[in-house]
Amino acid sequence: MLGGKMGVILHGGAGGFLSEEDCNVKEPYLKEALDAAWGALSSGDSGERAVVAALKVLEGCEYFDAGYGSFPNEHGNVFLDVALMRGNGDFISLMNVRRLRYPSQLALDMFRPGRSLQRVWTERLQRGVEASDDQLKERYGFARTEEEMISPYAVEANRRHRQKVSKGTGTVGCVVRDKEGRIFAGTSTGGTPNKPDGRIGDSPIVGAGVFADDEICGLSATGHGETILKSMVSGMVVASVRQAMRNQSELLESSLRKILADELDEMSRKYPNAEAGIVLIPQSGPPVYAFSAETMC
Ligand code: ASP
Repeated sequence: MLGGKMGVILHGGAGGFLSEEDCNVKEPYLKEALDAAWGALSSGDSGERAVVAALKVLEGCEYFDAGYGSFPNEHGNVFLDVALMRGNGDFISLMNVRRLRYPSQLALDMFRPGRSLQRVWTERLQRGVEASDDQLKERYGFARTEEEMISPYAVEANRRHRQKVSKGTGTVGCVVRDKEGRIFAGTSTGGTPNKPDGRIGDSPIVGAGVFADDEICGLSATGHGETILKSMVSGMVVASVRQAMRNQSELLESSLRKILADELDEMSRKYPNAEAGIVLIPQSGPPVYAFSAETMC
């Protein structure tokens, strides 16, 4: 979506085969999330609130690999990663969060202007949420038991993934540019299906799964986290956008699309079969996306 300087783009994951049925169930939630972010921006809310408004819609829905719909890991437990970043450089990143349907809300509440923080979830933090009042628990979608975090769709998607039929569900991300031209990005995930205990992918890593710089662009990535990390595809995209801005007075949509496609192609050339997708909003110009995967939504 684009209006004046304002822009919103979001995704619900890339990779694997998605049936028409999968797409149909997801589409209304993606639209709702888009409207939530756009509505927040239009009513003058901050960019990070707009991003979280969108992420929460998708985290609360079982059809996405974030919050409630997250893939269980190899032991059947859900561990969540989330990161939010402002284009002035402030960020918050939380890893291995437990039993919260809206981890992005907690990240937003822990976000402090002028501070950047990358943090692994601990027993102490978990106890803090458990000891909080009902209102706060509701705000974060606190699940009393592990089972409450396991959605039927995610269990089925895990099964289909094991049988190599389809992945079915994906990480969620949103990037916005507010009316002052400031950029904000956020990514939330349950990680890869059946992931090893304690595994962290690209999603909560600044410069990999999420990035924002008011002078260049903001992005959210999705796909095979280890490949996104080792190829540095997101960093390569940002560097290429910056270089293109130096060479051209106005960045064309086609140039941005080409940058994304070229960097994803380079990633796939080096690491075949790895799937990824990126949504991006430049400092000025329209939101763009590209993916090197069978599907992205
Ligand atoms: N990138 C995420 C991870 O590796 C998974 C995904 O986007 O589907 O944790």
